[in-house]
Amino acid sequence: MMFSNPWFWTALIATVGLWKLEMLATFLNMSALSPKVPKRLEGTVTEEEHERALEYARVSARFSVLSDSIQLGLFLGFWFAGGFGWVDHWVRGLGLGEIQSGLVLLSTLFVLQGLLILPFDWYDTFRIEAAFGFNKMTLGTFIMDRVKGLFLAALIGLPLLALLLHLFTSYPLAALYAWMVVTAFSLVLSFLSPRLILPMFFKFQPLEDAELKAAIMELSRKLEFPVAEVSVVDGSKRSTKANAFFTGFGKTKRIALFDTLLQNHSRDEILAVLAHEIGHCKRRHVPKQLALSVLSTGLMFALMHFAIHDPRLCAAFGITQPSVAWGFAFFGILFQPVSTLIGLLGSWMSRKFEFEADAFAREAMASPKPLVDALTRLTRDHLGNPTPHPFYVTLHYSHPPILQRLEALEAT
Ligand SMILES: [Zn+2]
Repeated sequence: MMFSNPWFWTALIATVGLWKLEMLATFLNMSALSPKVPKRLEGTVTEEEHERALEYARVSARFSVLSDSIQLGLFLGFWFAGGFGWVDHWVRGLGLGEIQSGLVLLSTLFVLQGLLILPFDWYDTFRIEAAFGFNKMTLGTFIMDRVKGLFLAALIGLPLLALLLHLFTSYPLAALYAWMVVTAFSLVLSFLSPRLILPMFFKFQPLEDAELKAAIMELSRKLEFPVAEVSVVDGSKRSTKANAFFTGFGKTKRIALFDTLLQNHSRDEILAVLAHEIGHCKRRHVPKQLALSVLSTGLMFALMHFAIHDPRLCAAFGITQPSVAWGFAFFGILFQPVSTLIGLLGSWMSRKFEFEADAFAREAMASPKPLVDALTRLTRDHLGNPTPHPFYVTLHYSHPPILQRLEALEAT
């Protein structure tokens, strides 16, 4: 009876189709690797460093092909062997009410999925990233990060999930209410997370370099961008990869610089990176991205409205007694291709914003040079692939490839 169920085929095509798309993108990306240092990077990136970047790209690609395939295989195996039925049987055996058993069920699936991914995360961090000199994380930090993540997921996720389960079991227009609740919730969270959540993972300390701090304040005055605080984040505890970001809203902007950025870049480069980040704020990129995410949440709940009460959805995964919680879980699987499509739109928008922020930084620094220097250095230090395939870029890149950024910066 599974085989006459349209949801069964939709889910199968969705999961296998996405996997195939990923394989194609990775294959194309590997065939686009440039054996030689691209002309524009000659003089910045040595032949040896380029070799190493190619090796990093190949190793990462091989790993992602392997882990995607194993994860898909395990998922299909679990599904076809009736794994969802076992979980259902176990949860029903606990004899809880509808909402509680829904929470237990979804938490179980969440933990199972986390356990499935865990060995891959471990291998990526302690084998691949470590082999290329990026990883600085100890096993203790790795474990603690996951413990804190799980704690936060429970603290924040469970009450929200309980509310959503309640809405969908009680109201015909639940999808609409759920959209409003999730939107409000994510707004509050994006407001609180820099103050409450990030400090759980990173240590923030005031910037001690007085000269640099004065230069930053000078820049922020010139750009009419109010900065309340400049702090340094101990990114080096986890990775050698450098970064900078802003937190806070309105008048309480806090700049956070990764210590790795401070160690490896000149003052002008750091200022150019900051000007780029200020460009994102000035051009209102964050609210625009937030708007897209609110719209996509709306689309998700609208589709969910039509799917969730169809008993065939649960039947497609071997569940004979449908429930809202199972509906959530299975809809999540079916929604993946749509969310990939929305993701394409989101990363296209993000790449466009990067060009705008680069242009802003060029203007602010009155020269393209500092940002060009910073970007080429970052690419070199992060072993970035200078020639990714356009299809791979469309699918995965939130930032334009380095050569395109340099070209845009240096165009008159
Ligand atoms: Zn940016």
